[in-house]
Amino acid sequence: MAFSDLTGQDKLKARLASEARAPHVASYILSGPVGCGKKSFANEFAQALVCENPSDDGACGKCSCCKYMKEGTLPDVLRLESSDGKQIKAESVRDVIEDIIISPQFSSRKVCIVDLDHMSETLQNLLLKPTEDPPPFVVFIMTTSSYASVISTVRSRSVNLVLLPYSDEEIGKILKDKLEDIEDARIEEAVEFSSGNPGKAMSLAQDPVFSDLKDDVMDLILAIPVVSYTNLLTEKLRLFTENKDSIDDILVLMVRALEDILKVKVSGAELTADIRYESDLPRIRRFISEHPSVTAGTIGKSVAAVEELRSALAVNANLEASCGAALLKIKKEFDK
Ligand SMILES: [Zn+2]
Repeated sequence: MAFSDLTGQDKLKARLASEARAPHVASYILSGPVGCGKKSFANEFAQALVCENPSDDGACGKCSCCKYMKEGTLPDVLRLESSDGKQIKAESVRDVIEDIIISPQFSSRKVCIVDLDHMSETLQNLLLKPTEDPPPFVVFIMTTSSYASVISTVRSRSVNLVLLPYSDEEIGKILKDKLEDIEDARIEEAVEFSSGNPGKAMSLAQDPVFSDLKDDVMDLILAIPVVSYTNLLTEKLRLFTENKDSIDDILVLMVRALEDILKVKVSGAELTADIRYESDLPRIRRFISEHPSVTAGTIGKSVAAVEELRSALAVNANLEASCGAALLKIKKEFDK
């Protein structure tokens, strides 16, 4: 592995590669939201630090330290990480602090990777002394998803390196590399809803609930002309009230469902519409032939109703009332 094996974060990689050859502090913090790749970069940085022949691209991958590192058996890299999502134990911290000052066995350096997200303030305090005045061969690489909650004394003696959001292309590449046999539409969708976070994109791409939500939204839109007003404001409204945390996603999915319906509508029965999910095509075609009252104009006004709903929710309008009003507007358009 070298830095070029990781996707994205080009500036950070250049910085880490240069720091790996001549660290100018004993403690680095890699910060960024959960799922942004801090651990991968911490590992790559650690390997570059212990490597015997590091290059502009980080570790050589061939020296004995790189080999032991790959096997996970290099004693010169210590870890304070949570394996089960629980807090790191005080005992583990004390063991590592004792070990870190002993000279390295294989490398010229000794590196400690620390997951600050699973360390209480009390435990972070134990790191003060070793980070303040460590032997010259020691480097700490700490990771946090909440830089503000790292104790100020640790922050002040560390260099903070921030992982930035990834581009859509980078996220798409990460997903394609990691997930085999996955529909392109699924990848596109995960990229779009990921906010530049590969971890979020991975879980969206593999999350059946998200896929269900997309189907539920399409089902809702297609059912609007046939359900009663009462049903619309009770049973159908539940999609919103039961998924409050995903309300932004639902609104995006509604607009997309309407756009796909429009595409099929204007493409005519003989043409293949370029819609996101080909599997939706038969039911959209059926909907269009059964409801000739739904026109490009009514679909456009329905999209506007969803946008109005988005603006209302942005200023904290009542969720149930606003969603109900938007559904009624769409039904009135479809029924015209
Ligand atoms: Zn190496």
